[in-house]
Amino acid sequence: MSVSVGFISLGCAKNLVDSQIMAGYLKAGKITLAASPESADIILINTCAFIDIAREESAESILSACAHKANGDCRAVIVTGCMVQRYREQLAEAFPDVDGFLGIDELDQIANLVTMVSEGDERLMFAEEGEATRIFNPLYPTLLFTGGPFAYLKISDGCDHRCAYCSIPDIRGSFRSRDDSAIHEEAFCMVEAGVRELNMISQDTLNYGADKPELPSIEALLKRIDVIEGSFWVRLLYSYPSSVSTELLELLNNSSHVCKYLDLPVQHSHPEILTAMNRAAAVEAIQDLAERVREAVPGIVLRTTCMVGFPGETEEHFEHLMKYVERSRFDHLGVFIFSPEEDTPAFDMDDMPELEVAEERCRKLMEIQAGIVQEKLQTLVGTEDELLLLRQEGDLWIGRLPRQAPEVDGETIVDGVPAEAKAGDFVRVLITGGGDYDLEAEFMR
Ligand code: SF4
Repeated sequence: MSVSVGFISLGCAKNLVDSQIMAGYLKAGKITLAASPESADIILINTCAFIDIAREESAESILSACAHKANGDCRAVIVTGCMVQRYREQLAEAFPDVDGFLGIDELDQIANLVTMVSEGDERLMFAEEGEATRIFNPLYPTLLFTGGPFAYLKISDGCDHRCAYCSIPDIRGSFRSRDDSAIHEEAFCMVEAGVRELNMISQDTLNYGADKPELPSIEALLKRIDVIEGSFWVRLLYSYPSSVSTELLELLNNSSHVCKYLDLPVQHSHPEILTAMNRAAAVEAIQDLAERVREAVPGIVLRTTCMVGFPGETEEHFEHLMKYVERSRFDHLGVFIFSPEEDTPAFDMDDMPELEVAEERCRKLMEIQAGIVQEKLQTLVGTEDELLLLRQEGDLWIGRLPRQAPEVDGETIVDGVPAEAKAGDFVRVLITGGGDYDLEAEFMR
C-alpha cells in the first residue's frame, strides 16, 4: 500500500539533519516523500523540546496535523524528535490522536513505523527508555532540506557540559562523535552535488573526536575536508569558548575553505554567574576571548549569544556583562532571557530576576550591540568580498558573505549581477551599505 509522508521539521539545524536522515530511510523503504505536509497521506512532525516556546510550537503543529486528519485530509500523524525523547508516554497521553511516535535513537525505524501505521496498527511508540546513545550517518542518495547551495554537516550529537539551565544533554544524551570517514564522505558528496557552503554543526563542535581515541581531532578533520577539490566554504557553528585551540586558529588563517568565522556562545562574562551556570571551565577563556582570537586571526568574524536574567544575576553582574559586550565588539550577538527548565539544576535556583528586569537587560544589551553593528558597517562600506549567490528576487540577487551564517546573521542584497548567474555561484562584490541586519552590495565580477 503506497503512502506518502510529508515533513514538518521544527527546532535547530541538528533536528533538520535528523529529518533528512529519516527521509533517506523512507526513500530506501520505497515510501514516497510528499511535496508538502498538506498533500501527504501521513504528516510527520519532527519536534523540538528545548524551551517553553519551542514546545508550544511543537504542540501547535501536532494539534493542527491532528485536525487535518480529523477532517479526512490525511490518514495519520507521526511525531518524532526531542518531544518524544523527553516525554514519551506523557506525550502519547497528551495527544491521543497521534498514530505513532519515534525517538531520536530510532531514526532507522521510521520506514517500519510508517508501514505499520499505514496498515492501521494500534498506536505505536518506537522510543526506547533511557539516554540516547546512537548516531546516524545519512543513507545515499540523501536529501537536503535546506534547498539551495548550503547544507548542514552534523558531526556529533549530545553534550557533556551539562550547563545548569540546559535540557539538551538529558534529551540528546552524552557527547558522541560520528566516524570521521563517514563525515568526510558526506562532505565530499555534498561538494560533488553542488553544495557550496558546508555548515559544520553539533552541540559541541570543537569537542569532536574527544570521546573516541581512534578518531582525529576537529582540526585534523577540518584539514582532511579542506583538501577536497572544489569551490566551497566550511563554517564552524556551536563552539564552546574554552575549546578554541592555537592549532584551530592557525588553521583558520591558512585553510582554503574554512571561513574565518567562529560562533562562540559565551552566555555571560561574570565569573560568579558562569560558575552558577556550571560553565566555570570557560571563565578564563571568555574574559579576553574576542581580542585574543582577533589578534590570532586578523579579519575573523565572531558570533556569540548571551543570557540575561539567570538566577542570582545582580545589577553588578549585568554591568560586568554590558562592559564585556562593549569591549568585545562581537560582529553578531544574540541575547536570550533565562527560561527555567524542569529537571535542570537552574530550575530550583533562587533569586531569579523579575521578568521586566530581565527584559530591560536584554533591551540594553541589544541596544549596545546595535551601535557596534552600525560602527562596523561603516568600516565595511567600500570594501569588497566574496559572496555566495542564494536566490534571485526580481532584478536583485540575495546572497551571503563569509561573515553571514545562514538563518542568523542576515543576508546581502546584490545589484548588477549578470543574467547568466545562478544560485551557488561565488562572485566578488563591493559593499555599498546596509541596515541593522542585511547588507547591500554591488556586483564586481
Ligand atoms: S554546551 Fe550548549 S548544548 Fe551543551 S549543555 Fe551547555 S548550553 Fe546545552
